[in-house]
Amino acid sequence: MARTRHLIIGGGTAGLNAITTIRQYDRGASEIILVSAERPYARMVLPYYLKGTISESHVYTANPTRLRALGVEDYLGRRAAKLDTQANTLTLDDDTVIPYDDVLIATGSSPVRAPVPGADGAGIYSFWTLEQAQGVIRHIRDGCSVVMVGAGFIAFTILNAILARGAKLSVLEIAPQILPRMIDAHGAQIVEHWLRDRQVDIRTGARLSAIEDAGRQKRLRLEGGEELLADLVIMATGIRTNLDWLQGSGVTINRGIVVDAQQRSNIPNVYAAGDVAEGKDLITGQPALHAIEPTAMEHGRIAGANMAGQPLAYRGSLLMNIVEVLGLEIASFGAWDSSAAEVMSATRPERPAYRKLLWQGDRLIGAMLLGPEKDVWTTNDVGMLKGLVQSGTPLGDWKGYVQRNLFDIKRAYIASGTTGRLLPQTVLGSPSVPASSVTVG
Ligand SMILES: Cc1cc2nc3c(=O)[nH]c(=O)nc-3n(C[C@H](O)[C@H](O)[C@H](O)COP(=O)(O)OP(=O)(O)OC[C@H]3O[C@@H](n4cnc5c(N)ncnc54)[C@H](O)[C@@H]3O)c2cc1C
Repeated sequence: MARTRHLIIGGGTAGLNAITTIRQYDRGASEIILVSAERPYARMVLPYYLKGTISESHVYTANPTRLRALGVEDYLGRRAAKLDTQANTLTLDDDTVIPYDDVLIATGSSPVRAPVPGADGAGIYSFWTLEQAQGVIRHIRDGCSVVMVGAGFIAFTILNAILARGAKLSVLEIAPQILPRMIDAHGAQIVEHWLRDRQVDIRTGARLSAIEDAGRQKRLRLEGGEELLADLVIMATGIRTNLDWLQGSGVTINRGIVVDAQQRSNIPNVYAAGDVAEGKDLITGQPALHAIEPTAMEHGRIAGANMAGQPLAYRGSLLMNIVEVLGLEIASFGAWDSSAAEVMSATRPERPAYRKLLWQGDRLIGAMLLGPEKDVWTTNDVGMLKGLVQSGTPLGDWKGYVQRNLFDIKRAYIASGTTGRLLPQTVLGSPSVPASSVTVG
């Protein structure tokens, strides 16, 4: 009997987790073909590579030996160009045609630049791929001036690294506050002060109108007439899904590929995972696009299990963003900005620390917090609040306690047995297996 041919398109977090999961179940009984424009690596660790705390070799998540051990036939450096869901074939950018029995689309996202004249010029970088990170590393110098356009989560993941390289940093944000999709205006003010006190130039409500050459530098023109000079410009102005190549395939795309709880699209043998998949949000139950690493990992594992014949359903992905800048921890989870929830908040300006908890009855459905990394309760509470939101633990009378003691989460966390609720909740519903131990045979 012919072996099932699983085709995986995209070798990032979602694609690689799917491959490992298929092999965890079938130990080599099927064929796996990987098509990926880039070698498998984790974008999430690029900030550490920029900082110099890890080398390039540590960015990769699978080398050729590992792919061989997983029994994967690979087409690395090739792009998927056309999916024919009637004939069950994929055509690559060099016209190679690959037949499949089922296919996973895990092509992730690409950075989008601010639509202003000069935004595509030399010396202007996005920071999304390894190649772009290498470009920044080649260019950045001690004492140079860097302008970051955009103050969202991705921009914040690289602030520490830019400053550690000795650069002077200005951040431009078009919205009235930094991190507009991660924290509220009050939290943003605290973070802005924290950064300004540490010599980071933060400009909110700043609308870039053009970027021009100014000798060896760049001149950034802002609406209102202000100008800034930069040795290096980094654009962190958003991302979009890599789905253009699916035009005409019949796969239903809303904001991303619409998937069911098994990561299946409207076409039963076409799955999607990671940044490109619009699956269920754990808290709201509504379709959502979560372009974050944990979602990519979990989507990939659920898709892989189902492709391997294990009918597993996904509970839904938890929106979470956690970032540390110059010693200040910032995090938000779940429905952190819900207008329907009951809200409790408290500030300790002297630390500074701020937190906001969002409730539905006696369950936490969202949380936002920030505070100094060196305050043990900040770091611990990030984990515990995430656990409470993720598990949906009913807190009963402990809700009142938390309301009176917003900076003491530990008692309620332990008393409500949240750890016990979280432990059995592995994505695949069975004890997790170290990925490195999964091979064929
Ligand atoms: C600097 C940075 C820091 C980040 N930090 C965090 C963090 O701290 N926490 C967090 O949760 N998330 C973080 N993220 C986001 C996280 O990295 C992404 O959500 C995650 O990589 C998504 O995984 P994916 O597998 O869906 O896509 P990707 O990892 O982007 O992989 C997609 C793969 O598909 C390939 N591909 C694209 N188009 C095609 C095509 N047509 N044909 C074939 N192959 C194709 C790409 O080359 C790539 O290999 C960060 C991202 C960046 C850039």
